[in-house]
Amino acid sequence: MVNDVAEKKMVKIIKVEPDKCIGCRACEVACSAFHAIPKYSSTNPARGRITVIMDEFNDVYYPIRAGYYTPAECNGREVYTINEKEYKECNFCGASCPQRDYFKEPDSGLPLKCDMCLDDPPLEEPMCVQVCRCDALTYEEKEVDVEPEVEAGELELGLESLANRYGLKKIMESVARMKLEKES
Ligand code: SF4
Ligand code: SF4
Ligand code: SF4
Repeated sequence: MVNDVAEKKMVKIIKVEPDKCIGCRACEVACSAFHAIPKYSSTNPARGRITVIMDEFNDVYYPIRAGYYTPAECNGREVYTINEKEYKECNFCGASCPQRDYFKEPDSGLPLKCDMCLDDPPLEEPMCVQVCRCDALTYEEKEVDVEPEVEAGELELGLESLANRYGLKKIMESVARMKLEKES
């Protein structure tokens, strides 16, 4: 449902300063450990929701966090030059996209999304920020005016991905069958 009245919202921001990043990948390890089940039981950067894009030859390191899921690659790819370093087409994009292997759960193929380390009790700072000793990642909270919108949660993302892979009809049939099995 979309409401046209702007409202105040506390937003969490992770600022990235690529010139400070040394490509140590501690953020990837910390993220994957924090999201392991059980928590901290394993470290596998392939399960991390942050990836450091590295081009060591050109001294380019850029951490990106997993954002939205897209079933198709886009046409809006750009090359940026910042402080004389060239960042290639998909470097700044956090999409779970068929163009590359990032941000897909290795076993299921389901898209991964940064949750800003949602936890109970809440973390003081997201894990990737806590372990970044170079201040390439810094955390901020601030209140902003936002246009309310419906955000796709992890459940919707997972269902959308399954529907794209197997078709909505198959998913609906499986859910109906599971419901019957539970009721019987
Ligand atoms: S922990 Fe910080 S310095 Fe290390 S790779 Fe991640 S962002 Fe870069
Ligand atoms: S990774 Fe991002 S920029 Fe690159 S093709 Fe996919 S959606 Fe487009
Ligand atoms: S904020 Fe948390 S979930 Fe997001 S990339 Fe950093 S460690 Fe991973």
